[in-house]
Amino acid sequence: MTDADRRTKRPPSASTLLVHGDRELSGDRSLAPPITPSSAHAARDAGEFAEMASKPRHQRFYTRYGNPTQERAAHLIARLEGGEAALMTASGMGAISTTALGLLKAGDLVVAQTSHYMGTTKLFTEVLPRFGVRTKLVDQADTAGLVAAIGEGARLVMVETPANPTMALTDLAEVAAAAKAAGAISVADNTFASPINQRPLDAGIDVVVHSATKYLGGHHDLVAGVVVGDTETIERIWQMSTVIGATLGAFDAWLLLRGLRTLPLRVARANANALAIARFLERHPAVEAVHYPGLESHPQHALALRQMKDGFGGVLAVRIRGGYEPAARFVAGLRLFTNAVSLGGVESLAVHAAAMWAGTLDDEQMRTAGVEPGMVRLACGIEEAEDLIADLAQALDKVGQAPEPPS
Ligand SMILES: *Cc1c(COP(=O)(O)O)cnc(C)c1O
Repeated sequence: MTDADRRTKRPPSASTLLVHGDRELSGDRSLAPPITPSSAHAARDAGEFAEMASKPRHQRFYTRYGNPTQERAAHLIARLEGGEAALMTASGMGAISTTALGLLKAGDLVVAQTSHYMGTTKLFTEVLPRFGVRTKLVDQADTAGLVAAIGEGARLVMVETPANPTMALTDLAEVAAAAKAAGAISVADNTFASPINQRPLDAGIDVVVHSATKYLGGHHDLVAGVVVGDTETIERIWQMSTVIGATLGAFDAWLLLRGLRTLPLRVARANANALAIARFLERHPAVEAVHYPGLESHPQHALALRQMKDGFGGVLAVRIRGGYEPAARFVAGLRLFTNAVSLGGVESLAVHAAAMWAGTLDDEQMRTAGVEPGMVRLACGIEEAEDLIADLAQALDKVGQAPEPPS
């Protein structure tokens, strides 16, 4: 191959793909993609109607079955993750529940992690057991334990790395190999890393799911989900999605396309902010511990270097000395970091983990999920690192003090 060949034949980088990769789907020469809000499409004649109704995943039949605006987003995300096909859903939980219902039946064994996104934990430990699915939870850092559990006849393996809110990692390659050996389907929630920092399919994982509400959308203005995998598996999950009906609307699919264009820029900035903040917090006397896979002190830093690329994500967890009350004062004292759930958008957010889950988990379940009373999750946005660090510093200064009396 000549140098010129090499330049033209190399696959486009993520940045270029996300700007140009769906242009071939345009019916016209507009730069911005069109929105197709129509819930149904007309057929020209009886023959075309029969074709529309019978062809799986027809994008111009009825929007619960597919839609051209959804399809553009799915096309980009499938290529970004290195998968053959993708299915858009109305939310991340829509993606995870439709995947599970599409692939499981009564009697099946699921191996999942002790620490997951709350909705995922509920799905696998409360909802699916009502339909005869058994779930075994294993500490994700215990690779040997995961591999052994998968070997007990697992049908589906659910992983999430880095996990919420502990920032513990799962060894994707080891889990994928164990799942293959056991004839199980492996599913990875790649929301926290984003495809910019981690591509689970490259590690041998079968199916990737995202809450596209987070980094993929990136502006805290939409709720969406996506499932990526091989064409046959995605078609099975699509069959279930036509029944479950967690359908992404065309306007939100369009907003998602808009957000996707800048994903690599936003993630690079969030990565840099998170690393700078993690290093600052690690040296602060009011801080007991910082959980961030990019820090040398993270117990799985070597695994992070192996399976993540170009950065370690924008989310970190910090343990404030003194537990619940000082952590609550820290969050209350923040000015730029907003006290709100979600992550992956342009603005930085902070969540007091124990406060968030107090209504849902008892103390024992919180310990199992790794939620300590003093733990605060920081989701870094794209502001200037120095400004965010100054905000954290002034809030930490107040942690030791009694709350100010109301004025
Ligand atoms: C937010 C989130 C979900 C759920 O996504 P929704 O879009 O809120 O339904 C699932 N997994 C992870 C890791 C998340 O952060």
